[in-house]
Amino acid sequence: MNKLNNFVWETHGIHAGTEKDYVKHGIDKLEDIVEKALEANHPSITFIIHSPRLTNFRYSVEKNTNIKFIRGNRSYINYPKRIANLRKKYKGLINIKFGVELEWMGADLGLQWSRSKIFQAEDADFVIGSVHFAPEGLPYDGSKEEALELLKIRGSLEEYWSGYFNEMIEMIEHFGDMIQVIGHIDLPKLNVDVPEVLQNFESSSHPLANKFRTLLEVIADRDLALDVNMAGDFKGVGVYPTQDILRRAFKLKIPICIGTDTHHVKYYGYKFKESLQYVYETGYKHYVSYSKLIPEKRTIFDDHDLKVKYTILNKGIELLNQRLHNKNRRIIPDFSFGGTFSEFLDIYKNATGMGDYNAIRIRKANKSITVSNETPQAESHKVKGLFSKHADIPGVISSLFNTLASEGVNVETARLKSNNDGTAVAFLTLEEDNGNIKSAIDFISGTDKEIFKVLQYKEEADLPNFYEKGVYLLEMDGVELKLALSEKVILTKHHNAPGVLLILLSALASKNINIIDLRLGKRNNMGYSALAVDGDKNVINNLLNKLGDQYYEANLIEFHSM
Ligand SMILES: [Zn+2]
Ligand SMILES: [Zn+2]
Repeated sequence: MNKLNNFVWETHGIHAGTEKDYVKHGIDKLEDIVEKALEANHPSITFIIHSPRLTNFRYSVEKNTNIKFIRGNRSYINYPKRIANLRKKYKGLINIKFGVELEWMGADLGLQWSRSKIFQAEDADFVIGSVHFAPEGLPYDGSKEEALELLKIRGSLEEYWSGYFNEMIEMIEHFGDMIQVIGHIDLPKLNVDVPEVLQNFESSSHPLANKFRTLLEVIADRDLALDVNMAGDFKGVGVYPTQDILRRAFKLKIPICIGTDTHHVKYYGYKFKESLQYVYETGYKHYVSYSKLIPEKRTIFDDHDLKVKYTILNKGIELLNQRLHNKNRRIIPDFSFGGTFSEFLDIYKNATGMGDYNAIRIRKANKSITVSNETPQAESHKVKGLFSKHADIPGVISSLFNTLASEGVNVETARLKSNNDGTAVAFLTLEEDNGNIKSAIDFISGTDKEIFKVLQYKEEADLPNFYEKGVYLLEMDGVELKLALSEKVILTKHHNAPGVLLILLSALASKNINIIDLRLGKRNNMGYSALAVDGDKNVINNLLNKLGDQYYEANLIEFHSM
């Protein structure tokens, strides 16, 4: 029997932490809500903040306070910093996400204003595009009176909704590359009726139905997600959007995310289970949450195997995305699935199969990443190699590579394993032309004998099998690497010439960054390296930025998905 999860990785989560606001708009303390989430044993919590509005876009309750202020501007600017502090405070206890709900206020000043607001929230995990206000300056989700005033101006229910959809489409045209999610798509139902032609939007030939179908297609074409928003439920008008809309969205392969969109701590965690049931009934088998603008797949049911597979998929997407420039990160990549992952072929548009190859391949902008949780097989062919047992401290691998290079010995690839007792073993396979290996060993034995316990060259060695259970980076751009992923991974693409790799290894050694594992690969004169490392992220990034132009790519990947 399938059991629904009782937790939701929210996107349009809880509006909180704006503090001294004159109108209750998320003033509960961030810490109080985190404590509540911890009490409930939740693995994650998602905060969201409205981007500040221009002063003529105000709810009547705000106008009535008679205070001239740009609502929330100061708390907005400070928000990313406060979230960063919160993450520090609760590190290891809970995953804290935050996003921005962007206000659409037309294509003129409102557009420039909002663009500038996105730059102020650079570290946001996602941006939701929402239309709360009509260009007439009246809100869709304000008081009944405000809605009726707008209805009177527009003349009919159909025109009321038509205007709203126009604004949505216009927002996507201008903002499509800056947002990931479309907020509460049928928001106007809060205050006005849904015309019959819209209730029957799938079959009606009415222009309004047609416009709505177009809106959904625009969302699908842009790879944006739909916000399944429980606020409509506790406000008594039903979840945004209706299940009919979700059924259509499912057919269009539009991803969905889920959230309570609450402004009060009392609704935190509201009907998590019911919301999952709600989307499941419309055909969805999963939903997404966001981390650093990247969608992560989440399960609806408590299904351990599927959760593991989604984690691999999420990690692969993160690996690829961190190799790309910001602009490209916002575009959904292309996928191939093989083996046990073939069940994902239905999730993505244009996904292709890889037969029995039990892996996920993700590609975008001429780069690709292949990941799997299948433990690589031991290889049986004989190789030339150097076996070492040494102290498990930073700098050892660098000094080994340096000494070998000084004797003209080129390393093909490496396998490292920590014994977790202060010692580690390494096996380096060497290229055919192996220089003066004997004298390299003599040199190391002479100078570093406290560090190296064993150092043995073998002509016909079996490749040791250090593979353990884990998630593996199998390939980068089609070049085999087979690195087990750890919390921090460095990927490089560099000029494949003697000495180039030493720059990286020496740089890491200079700052005491420990190398947990190291895999090398090449295709002609292009070299690839994948390193599992342990050390401070800012220090590592600083080093990677200074490697020089023989490094075409050098990225530190930290995994945010869980
Ligand atoms: Zn909203
Ligand atoms: Zn909201």
